Amino acid sequence: MGWDMTDAPPTDHTRLSAPAPLADRSCGTCTLCCDLPEIEALQKPANRLCRHAIPHKGCSIYESRPPLCRDFLCLWRTSETLGPEWQPDRAGLMIYRQGPQTTVLVHPDHPGAASREPYASGLQTLARQAEAAGGYLIVFVGEKVTRLYPSA
Ligand code: SF4
Ligand code: SF4
Repeated sequence: MGWDMTDAPPTDHTRLSAPAPLADRSCGTCTLCCDLPEIEALQKPANRLCRHAIPHKGCSIYESRPPLCRDFLCLWRTSETLGPEWQPDRAGLMIYRQGPQTTVLVHPDHPGAASREPYASGLQTLARQAEAAGGYLIVFVGEKVTRLYPSA
C-alpha cells in the first residue's frame, strides 16, 4: 500500500450533486455526512455533528434542509460496487466523489478503519479507478490527510 502525505490538503468538503441513489439503499441510522465533513455553508467544522442533526436518526430540519444537503449522497448510496459492508456507519468511514477527487473521511472514533480489510483492499481498487480516470483518492483521519497511491 502506498501512502504519502499531500502538500496542500483540501479542507472544504462542499457537497455537490451525486448520481441517482440505488433503490434498495437508505441512510437508516447513519448520520456520518452530517458529522465528518466540513460544511462551510452551515459553519460546521469537520468531525462535529451538525447542530441540526439528531444522532442516529437524521435531520431535525429535513423538509427545509439546505440544497447542498438535498443534493448530497455518499458513494455507498449510489454505487453497486460497494457492498453492504461499506454502509458508512458500519464501515466507520464515508466516501464521496467531487470532480477528480475521491474523498474518504474516516470517523475519528475508528482511526484504523481504512487500514483494515476489506476496506484497505477496496480503497486500493477505488484509488486505481480514480487514477485511471485522471483523478486521485485522499483519506482524511482527523487533521491528517494522505493520498492513497495504488500499489503495483
Ligand atoms: S454518509 Fe451516506 S449513508 Fe450516511 S447519512 Fe450520509 S448519505 Fe446517508
Ligand atoms: S442541515 Fe440536516 S442534512 Fe444538512 S448537515 Fe445538518 S443535519 Fe445533516
